[in-house]
Amino acid sequence: RLFYEPVTTPCGHTFCLKCLERCLDHNPKCPLCKEGLSECLAMRKYCKTVLMEELIARYLPEELTERRKIYEEEIAELSNLNKNVPIFVCTMAYPTVPCPLHIFEPCYRLMIRRCMETGTKQFGMCISDPVKGFADYGCILEIRNVEFFADGRSVVDSIGKRRFKVIQHSQRDGYNTADIEYIEDQKVQGQEYAALLVLHDSVYDQAYVWFNSLKQALKSRILSHFGPMPAKDPDPQANPNGPAWCWWVLAVLPLENRAQLPFLAMKSLKDRLNGIRRVLT
Ligand SMILES: [Zn+2]
Ligand SMILES: [Zn+2]
Repeated sequence: RLFYEPVTTPCGHTFCLKCLERCLDHNPKCPLCKEGLSECLAMRKYCKTVLMEELIARYLPEELTERRKIYEEEIAELSNLNKNVPIFVCTMAYPTVPCPLHIFEPCYRLMIRRCMETGTKQFGMCISDPVKGFADYGCILEIRNVEFFADGRSVVDSIGKRRFKVIQHSQRDGYNTADIEYIEDQKVQGQEYAALLVLHDSVYDQAYVWFNSLKQALKSRILSHFGPMPAKDPDPQANPNGPAWCWWVLAVLPLENRAQLPFLAMKSLKDRLNGIRRVLT
């Protein structure tokens, strides 16, 4: 393929920006002469090869147009948040709950970079599954900030957005992807809604009392990691994910991943509240 966005390393070698970045995910050295490129990596700044770009534009305009089209198609494909959505297989994530991540595997470096490049800043998070590779339910995480280190590792600050069900598992360039369907709570009305409000208030109070009964050291740890317990919603059905405090409590409760997973799949707030109540009592 034709060079695309060519860059030149301090050692004088020229690569496509994206190809170079992918090589550096595995080894922070020039792919040709093996000179160390950690400084480039830390700054994320590469020297654009303007002359080569001009030469390509002047003498190979058709090829460049074609190459640009391929690039734009790739970006469109990578931006799709329903089909072939990138899946990070690591931990349990819930809507509205912050999820800090340390990125060191090359495949996830590529995945996070692509999320930033396409501008979606979103990827799916699933816990692993011994048979399928990853669980059938997960949560979309949105990247709020990425901090890159000189050795290529990064720390991603993300927060849970929406829940999803996995329709099909697949892979792309070494990381998992999935076709997904978003999950929303089903609303109730009338008497059912009145009963839901009562249940909502009572489980909230129960959770509040439970949290305040914890030892100070544990409480501080929880607060620094997850922030304060969100306030009670006036209308618990206002958000398709249900009240934020429920997810906060589920993230904080000492539950194993396998026990947390069913809560992601529930479309009934009443079931979720009753589930939390069972864990609290
Ligand atoms: Zn290339
Ligand atoms: Zn070199």
